[in-house]
Amino acid sequence: MEIILVLIFIAITVFTLHTILNQTPVEYKGSNKIKSTEEREHKYKNDGSKLLAGIITAKRRCWKCKKSTTVISIRLFNSIGRFEIDYKPKILYGVNDVPSTLLKKIQERFGFYKMIYNHTQKQKLIANTCEFCGSLQGDFYLYDEPDGPFFNIYRMKANVFIYDKDGELFYHEGK
Ligand SMILES: [Zn+2]
Repeated sequence: MEIILVLIFIAITVFTLHTILNQTPVEYKGSNKIKSTEEREHKYKNDGSKLLAGIITAKRRCWKCKKSTTVISIRLFNSIGRFEIDYKPKILYGVNDVPSTLLKKIQERFGFYKMIYNHTQKQKLIANTCEFCGSLQGDFYLYDEPDGPFFNIYRMKANVFIYDKDGELFYHEGK
């Protein structure tokens, strides 16, 4: 009998707590917690400058020379050129018109990310090339193949960031 009373007491307590917690206004729920990659990255926004792009780096075995080469993925956080970002950051994929200011900034550190003729697409695209032999490391193989380094790109974190202050781009490391 006593056990039943204790159980009823626990049930009422849990129910009451649940009701109280659910009354918390939605906008305050977990507001101090940083949940997603994007939110973590946005925290680096500071006054006077805006986070323009995040660079996600990975390694890939070059299909041609078999050496381990670095490949990058660009995640845009703010609009530039024809690329409109409303809320959700976008990954640049299969593009040929990355605005030159941004492309030049990226190439300061990642010179292998450049315009190169893609024989499959039959057009010039901005893509990763092997650091050693210069071969194209096509977006399809990086993003769409299950063993591609960027297959789970939306779960990956950028580790290098490019900010824009009054049109001037500059690097800011992550952690
Ligand atoms: Zn190579």
